[in-house]
Amino acid sequence: MTLFERIIAREIPADVVFEDDTVIAFRDINPKAPVHVLVVPKRVSTRLDELDQAALGELFERANRVARDVLKLSDYRLCVNVGAGAGQVVFHTHVHVLGGWGEGQADTNPEFKAPR
Ligand code: 5GP
Repeated sequence: MTLFERIIAREIPADVVFEDDTVIAFRDINPKAPVHVLVVPKRVSTRLDELDQAALGELFERANRVARDVLKLSDYRLCVNVGAGAGQVVFHTHVHVLGGWGEGQADTNPEFKAPR
């Protein structure tokens, strides 16, 4: 069982902000931004590149919905680490939703700078 499956099963506590049949979203335990939530598909996969087009669409639709409608972010960053070499440490596919910096301030977060 992955760490995130244990959160889905409520074996490990988490600050859940959204849940439906397909995803659970909860606050990251070690936030890298003023608002940092993980959106996790309930159907288990290891990494993003295993998902088909429908699953990708559903996951990113939920990530947008969590960012805009649940967290009330007007501007935000969606980030996915695909593989250990890219910084993935939990091998259960997830999207990071990062925001809340205030206008024009996102690059003050060194770990999640946009690619140059
Ligand atoms: P990754 O580096 O795999 O893309 O991101 C994994 C994320 O999961 C990290 O940002 C890390 O802080 C978060 N995380 C790890 N363990 C826990 C936990 O037990 N609870 C919560 N809420 N987040 C966790």
